[in-house]
Amino acid sequence: MKKHNFYAGPSILPDSTIKNTADAVLNFAGTGLSVMEVSHRGKEFVAVMDEAQALFKELLNIPDDYEVLFLGGGASTQFCMVPYNLMKKKAAYLNTGAWAAKALKEAKFFGEVVEVASSKEANYNYIPKNYEVPADSDYFHITTNNTIYGTEIKEDLDVNVPLVADMSSDIFSRPVDVSKYAIIYGGAQKNLAPAGVAFVIVKKDILGKTGRDIPTMLDYRTHADKGSMFNTPPVLPVFAALQTLKWLKEQGGVAAMQKKNEEKAGLLYDEIDRNKLFKGTAAKEDRSLMNICFVMNDEFAELEKEFLDFATIRGMIGIKGHRSVGGFRASTYNALPYESVKALVETMQEFEKKH
Ligand SMILES: *Cc1c(COP(=O)(O)O)cnc(C)c1O
Repeated sequence: MKKHNFYAGPSILPDSTIKNTADAVLNFAGTGLSVMEVSHRGKEFVAVMDEAQALFKELLNIPDDYEVLFLGGGASTQFCMVPYNLMKKKAAYLNTGAWAAKALKEAKFFGEVVEVASSKEANYNYIPKNYEVPADSDYFHITTNNTIYGTEIKEDLDVNVPLVADMSSDIFSRPVDVSKYAIIYGGAQKNLAPAGVAFVIVKKDILGKTGRDIPTMLDYRTHADKGSMFNTPPVLPVFAALQTLKWLKEQGGVAAMQKKNEEKAGLLYDEIDRNKLFKGTAAKEDRSLMNICFVMNDEFAELEKEFLDFATIRGMIGIKGHRSVGGFRASTYNALPYESVKALVETMQEFEKKH
């Protein structure tokens, strides 16, 4: 039976990413060797790194004064690299979820952190709107998509200080005006590649201004100067990321992706709102296009386990909600086909008929 992969991360990748990466594990670029066993400084892998950076820039229309880096350590290492490289005295953070809170916590090692607003008291089910970013903040940090709670900032904000965004779970899901950001970063394992690499889009002239000594590996300038080849990069995840970038281009780029994502999410949210058994957990205006959270309606609360089993035997994989929200979460990343969302919606309708 067909499996429909709704995992939140690591998560579904395009078939071509998996197939091409499997091929390169056996025979990379006609070398007769595995991509796992050749020098990252050989011409074949250098070409992969160069093309991945170039396509990344092309797809997101990244201006020339930005660098794209591929680094180890996941998004979580960026929680400390951002303040290390940007914070002189004070930074502002918007607390929209568990990942945002973790980023905020790390920043406190480097100076004063202002939490401009938080939706924690409502279990992060909405994005705070009316807040003020202190004008003397070195930067303002946001998490554009809150993977656990299913809320998303779907537009590029205008702020009066350098803007930094964790886009781990919505990168390449829509066009982004990169010129509005100082740094955009994320782990690749939600919408791009297998786990093991983080991407960082950094505006070069923002760096080197803190007056602080930064350990070599944690200094963005080290990696920018060496084209992400200062040390051995995560070779296999970078190779896989390139395959996804090529697929994105074939699909028509991020604008085409946004349209498809809106169709998929629209289909599922409509069903959640229509079906008497279920209800969404996120505020409607802040609903994520990537992670769709829903629970049983109160009068059907005892059916939760039964629905999970009902859906699982119909091929729905990874729809159990995160423990801090409960219920269900269907992640509808770029690579998830429309047919998978349709199959989930039909499963929900079948379950409704049964009760
Ligand atoms: C998954 C996730 C992270 C953590 O990524 P790691 O690569 O595991 O460190 C951070 N931020 C967001 C928004 C995420 O979804």
